[in-house]
Amino acid sequence: MIIDMHIHIHPFPNGTNGLAMPDDYRHEMAHKLERIGISPDRQAEAAVERMAAAGVDAAVVQNPYHAPESGHRRSNRTVAETIAPYRGKLYAFAGIFIRPTPDLAELEYAICELGFKGLKYLPASQSFRVNDFALLDPLYKKLIELDVPLLTHPGPTNFRGSDPSVCQMADYIDVARRYPDLKLIIAHYGAGAVGGSEAALALAEEFPNVYVETSTWMWQCTRPFIPAIDGWNPQAPETFLYEMLYPAGGQRRPEMEEAWQRGKEAHRAMLREIVARAPGKLMYGTDLPFIARFDFVELYREALGDHPAVLADVLGGTAQRVLKIDGGN
Ligand SMILES: [Zn+2]
Repeated sequence: MIIDMHIHIHPFPNGTNGLAMPDDYRHEMAHKLERIGISPDRQAEAAVERMAAAGVDAAVVQNPYHAPESGHRRSNRTVAETIAPYRGKLYAFAGIFIRPTPDLAELEYAICELGFKGLKYLPASQSFRVNDFALLDPLYKKLIELDVPLLTHPGPTNFRGSDPSVCQMADYIDVARRYPDLKLIIAHYGAGAVGGSEAALALAEEFPNVYVETSTWMWQCTRPFIPAIDGWNPQAPETFLYEMLYPAGGQRRPEMEEAWQRGKEAHRAMLREIVARAPGKLMYGTDLPFIARFDFVELYREALGDHPAVLADVLGGTAQRVLKIDGGN
């Protein structure tokens, strides 16, 4: 079974579903979705269709919560309703408010009533240090009691109020050591946090309860090679989206194609290093829809195809075990 650990579906506010989004964010989101051919009203349907075309069986929708002052309000119930028609194909990780105290009632509701598979938190957006145990000990204990994993976005975010000072990979050492029964998944392979991917790998190597997923890393690996042409900012994610993933006419310009190939080589080496140093700890994840394509599973097949058992674990076996997803459902 092939499982993408990290995708996004953004239900839009409709006046009755309790969601809120700043206007500029909403317009940008709608614009980007339309540019890649996805109607904002049928994101889940489009995801499932495109996954099927790429041979991906299931994906986990991450529902990050941001600080209330960001102007965003998400809800787990809305995500559950959005994915309900796609049982066995779309799963979800909940978001909850962490401040003033972690909303454990909402967590329990999402896991026990809505059937969510874990929790995602965002220290930068939600303004906390992950080793602030006075605040978080009840949350970590509740996750262990519910026996569900925690996925963290360890770097800064692009949302208003993001606090880069809390993005310290070393803080996770305290968490992994103090709660050996908590399964911790480091998203984006530590990108943007102090310590970054090297620390994420060291954690996965050292602690049996720490896993990594490498979503956004095709972008990270390609960035150094993207040329500044036609006014594109080589560092902007939009450049990667519009010039590398969905180029006009379906064909990359030659300079961009060269950057893509070099990035792909670096990405391949990275995947191979992770499975060599931290066997059983890498999970396939993309952060779709804007920083990856639905067929990225091919990048993993090319990189790890000479070890079929390793590849099977990376693409879904490990996620099935950690999330307790059985192949038949
Ligand atoms: Zn994400």
